[in-house]
Amino acid sequence: MSDIPGPRSRTLRARLAARESRNVTYLADDFPIFWESASRATVTDVDGNRYIDLTAAFGVAAVGHANPAVTAALAEQAQRLTHGMGDVHPTEVRVQLLERLAQIVPRGLERTFLATTGSEAVEAAMKTAILATGKSAFAAFSGAYHGLSLGALALCGIEKFRQPFAAALPLRPLLLGFPHAAMPLGDALDAARATLKAHDDVAALFVEPIQARGGCVVPPHGYLRGLRAICDELGILLAFDEIYTGFGRTGEWFACDHEGVTPDLLCIGKAMGGGFPISALVGTAAAMDAWPASNGEALHTSTYLGNPMGCAAAIATIEQLERLNLPARAKRLGVELAPRLEAVARTRGVIEVRGRGLMWGIELRDAEHAQRAVTAALARGVIALQAGVRGEVLSVTPPLVIPESELERALSALRDAISQSA
Ligand code: PMP
Repeated sequence: MSDIPGPRSRTLRARLAARESRNVTYLADDFPIFWESASRATVTDVDGNRYIDLTAAFGVAAVGHANPAVTAALAEQAQRLTHGMGDVHPTEVRVQLLERLAQIVPRGLERTFLATTGSEAVEAAMKTAILATGKSAFAAFSGAYHGLSLGALALCGIEKFRQPFAAALPLRPLLLGFPHAAMPLGDALDAARATLKAHDDVAALFVEPIQARGGCVVPPHGYLRGLRAICDELGILLAFDEIYTGFGRTGEWFACDHEGVTPDLLCIGKAMGGGFPISALVGTAAAMDAWPASNGEALHTSTYLGNPMGCAAAIATIEQLERLNLPARAKRLGVELAPRLEAVARTRGVIEVRGRGLMWGIELRDAEHAQRAVTAALARGVIALQAGVRGEVLSVTPPLVIPESELERALSALRDAISQSA
């Protein structure tokens, strides 16, 4: 154990500062640590300090860091073929993944577009909606985060990300208010319907079933189902961005499964590849077949589409989620966690605790407190992350495989960190 950050992290921080774009990494005397390795829910830094990871590294490590089945699949695939051709000669492992995905997504979602990042999956959904409806405007929610590439940024409901680039964004979305769980369902749906009805050019409505970056905001139960009915009535495609909430995070395979709602378009990524970058858009045949058949020149593709390493990692990840029954484990832990989180909710400086499964947000009074709490947690051996439109939320999204004793220990350390830094 060394100081946190220890001497090697400090040295690397200076080297990083000299060469990396200054926009990327927040650097301070007591932040960050440099990760060296990770296993399950434990991260080890370059100074040999160990931490419990309450972030799953942005929700990615659902099956655990360096899950042995995923790393074995990657190693095995790497021996044979690390890269193929996006839209020309495919691979068997790609076919296998497409078939596996069809088994786990809501029934009726039949066609898939593979990609590499979440933003790309979102942009594939935007293009699909344009082709399928002949319309070209989009609706999204205030507080929404769908990625930062220019197309996805055009749907962003967090102003600070949009503002510097607003003049270059291809479009401005129609932004609806995202309802909090306590809002009466009828009022929330009436508001959405009135706004959407006033516009006849909306191709698709993009929804995070639980807003992630926006601060783990959970809408009232029934809201997703209500949006389905509104979109059907108005001829708008319903696109769920489950890049964060997918693959068991909220206690079901996908958060829309809680309400038994099938969107037209489903964007997935993050946990999908167990740590290897891969994402996808999965859609109904009706929406997806708006794409013309390729005549040898795909209208939309990318170099790494269906990369065999990503496909192998995703198949192994899905197998692990199934074999370890991780969506159900997330659901059970979410319920069992409730009393512990209520104790957190009573901690000084905490406004509200909300979430579902293993996706929780702890809203603090302001971003400064949240930032101090993240640093104080780190010093106690816990990695936590700030979220929220103003950075006022701590998000708790551990690997779904986290041992219960570690989760308990980390939450109690986080609580101490919140109260100490209030
Ligand atoms: N959608 C959601 C809901 C996300 O949480 C994120 C990433 N935090 C994205 C899209 C963008 O994914 P990526 O960073 O892989 O482009």
